Amino acid sequence: LPRDDCPLDKVRLGISTWGLLHTMAAFYSDNPTDTEKRDMKTFFEVLSRLYPCEFCAKDFRTDLDVNPINVNSQKELALWLCKFHNRVNDKLGKPLFDCTKVNERWRDGWLDGSCD
Ligand code: FAD
Repeated sequence: LPRDDCPLDKVRLGISTWGLLHTMAAFYSDNPTDTEKRDMKTFFEVLSRLYPCEFCAKDFRTDLDVNPINVNSQKELALWLCKFHNRVNDKLGKPLFDCTKVNERWRDGWLDGSCD
């Protein structure tokens, strides 16, 4: 990894962005209002246009078209995002994440207490 005070390369940008996105999904409402749903959908659409890695953004837009975002609840959004991240992992030849554990990873901490 590069130094902390240098411009982000696509690896660091990716790690930071996934952290923000999964944390947004972790703290999304269980029972969102129409405004919350619209805002989250708009946020992802705009991010897929402005994400500062051009070829990543292009695939992101295609993926959103093929696999529309699910903003109906915290659980559904977190699962949709986990599956989206796994499609990127798969494209990059990385291991897939077990999506049954997404709220442990990003919201509750591991059941063994190692994050407490
Ligand atoms: P990351 O993939 O950054 O993951 C960070 C942490 O998230 C992991 O340590 C793990 O704990 C957790 N995690 C992993 N998978 C999941 C999951 N499915 N659900 C929940 N949590 C998970 N890079 C490219 O080279 N080409 C691209 O086209 C590309 N497109 C991208 C598109 C987007 C929208 C984003 C945000 C990033 C993209 N990246 C792309 C960057 C790439 O996904 C990684 O962020 C980067 O390669 C660093 O990978 P990493 O292995 O350190 O962990």
